[in-house]
Amino acid sequence: MDESDRIRISNYVCETAVLGPGRRFAVWFQGCAKRCRGCINPEGQKLDGGRLISVEELLGKIRQRQGIQGVTVSGGEPFLQYRGLKRLLDGIKEETKLDVMLYSGYTLQELQGKFGDDLMPVLRHVDIFIDGEYHQDEDHGSIYRGSDNQDIYFFTERFRDFREEIYRTKNRDIEFSIEGEAVYMVGVPPKDFYPEFIKKISAQAEK
Ligand code: SF4
Repeated sequence: MDESDRIRISNYVCETAVLGPGRRFAVWFQGCAKRCRGCINPEGQKLDGGRLISVEELLGKIRQRQGIQGVTVSGGEPFLQYRGLKRLLDGIKEETKLDVMLYSGYTLQELQGKFGDDLMPVLRHVDIFIDGEYHQDEDHGSIYRGSDNQDIYFFTERFRDFREEIYRTKNRDIEFSIEGEAVYMVGVPPKDFYPEFIKKISAQAEK
């Protein structure tokens, strides 16, 4: 197996309604070199964390899933595994009719500087692209984005009509996914979610 056959992921969920339009498969790439203050997925930063999965296995799970309209790829930082990312997106677009939403902690300009002509073969498969680091002081509760410095690009026609609505919407939501004994939070949490959440847990624990 070469590097493009496998991806190091934190996790995936076969269906979520809180990470992009409609119901979607979501996968989190493991590893991120950015160190954003207040990162919502600090466990996802470790480069050798998570687990390896073959791109074929992941594509199989995406193909099998009925009733979803798209796939969201987040992280961690997907572009740290450029070849695996490209292979995954090639497979989604060749084998399904699903749309693709992609997150990166790098801005589009940074990615252009890093990858040059190799960037387009990845981005041509992407319908919605959200770029940039998370800035805690610019977290205004916007849907799909951690903070408002992040830009949303609509590379295809698919969601362009919803552009203004997506930019305006503030009702972020989260879901919990249970896997064995582990519970995973899915989605971008509402602003100030953690202090409120911890307060609630502490109140319950004190009863
Ligand atoms: S880019 Fe994303 S995953 Fe990486 S540190 Fe920042 S918020 Fe966390």
